[in-house]
Amino acid sequence: MRVIVQKFGGTSVATPEGRENVVKKVQEALNQGYGVVVVVSAMGRAGEPYATDTLIGLAKGIMKSVKPRELDLLMTCGENISTVVMVQTLKHHGIEASAFTGGQAGIYTDHHFGNARIMEIKPDNLRRCLEGGRVAVVAGFQGITPDGEVTTLGRGGSDTTGAALGVALNAEVVEIYTDVDGVMTADPRLVPQAKSLAVMTYNEVCEMAHLGAKVVHPRAVEIAMEGRVPLRIRSTFSDSLGTLITDGSAIGNIEIRGDKVVTGLAHIAEMALVRIKSEQDMNQNGKVMEVFQAMANAGISVDMIQVAPFAIGFIIKEDLAERSTQVLGKLNLEVLVQKGFAKVAIVGSGMRGVPGVMAKMVRGLQRARIAIYHSTDSHINIACLVRQDDMCNALQALHEEFQLGE
Ligand code: ADP
Ligand code: ASP
Ligand code: MG
Repeated sequence: MRVIVQKFGGTSVATPEGRENVVKKVQEALNQGYGVVVVVSAMGRAGEPYATDTLIGLAKGIMKSVKPRELDLLMTCGENISTVVMVQTLKHHGIEASAFTGGQAGIYTDHHFGNARIMEIKPDNLRRCLEGGRVAVVAGFQGITPDGEVTTLGRGGSDTTGAALGVALNAEVVEIYTDVDGVMTADPRLVPQAKSLAVMTYNEVCEMAHLGAKVVHPRAVEIAMEGRVPLRIRSTFSDSLGTLITDGSAIGNIEIRGDKVVTGLAHIAEMALVRIKSEQDMNQNGKVMEVFQAMANAGISVDMIQVAPFAIGFIIKEDLAERSTQVLGKLNLEVLVQKGFAKVAIVGSGMRGVPGVMAKMVRGLQRARIAIYHSTDSHINIACLVRQDDMCNALQALHEEFQLGE
């Protein structure tokens, strides 16, 4: 049987109008002869009654600290509600469908509550459902441990469920439906000129997602890449084909976009910059090790890391600034932790080995009078740290400098 997985995000299933569009997309796939697995997120965004953030607020409103195990149990309710509402809607339109929790769909994870990894999928129940001519509606973002604990896959993790089921069921394609027309050259909420990209490689999208482009979860892209299942990101609310994501071979090669070195922009807001200075060589006196071990012991993840004999720099999430100051304060070093920064990045497979890309990035930022406080790069991205207040202008300036709207 030809199988398709269609994942619908929170805004797609939030309203009766959205759910009518979902039915249309499912019907189209059925008409093409596919066995259809629908993966749903919790209905709506923060503030709406069954949204994930609302559920979290419910528990934290009683007491700020919630055990990760109980929080997971609560959060999964949002997606569970969504499955039943969607099954009812499909049935109302004459489409036979059954609802499944992650556990019932055979998604087994480790015990890392809040950010569990999928260890194995036993999709027998789903296969039986499809073979019986029914649509399977699966709760995204959740799984079960072998001993029956309910877990979640990290915020935005319904994408991960979609990709993982696509691989397990050998689907022809995994479609991720959301509220924008695919992966765009930048977040359209901040850069109104952003335009949708027709094709991208897994690597590029993965890089953009890791650098903050929220449109798809990076783990979903990694799973699809490993399992060689194409992903298509598209809108529930239009007929546009959105963005096809493959390894590039199926679309002839990524050169399809011409000679652009930069494909898109990404950003991460609300970061703090940590700078450590010393008059003594920190490689020699073991302080480099002490700094990073102290952060590791405190469970604080560091990014944009730069180490030199007399200076260390990195960034952390802003809400961990006080904790980091405390931890590093014990090391007898000159430590400065400053809040109010954002990371903006340019991404593109085409920049590999091309001279002048950083020069162009600096030119774009300088023209907009935006200062750079820190930078890092990989073979397909360059990221600069700017003041939070400059983030939006920086993205717009870079979008213009690299002519991404054309
Ligand atoms: P869903 O609830 O459907 O999973 P998300 O809110 O997780 O939707 O992701 C969609 C949002 O991602 C869009 O509304 C958009 O603001 C944001 N976004 C950030 N970067 C990009 C980008 N490069 N392309 C498209 N959307 C982006
Ligand atoms: N509902 C979950 C979240 O808000 C999962 C998802 O939407 O993908 O993080
Ligand atoms: Mg999402």
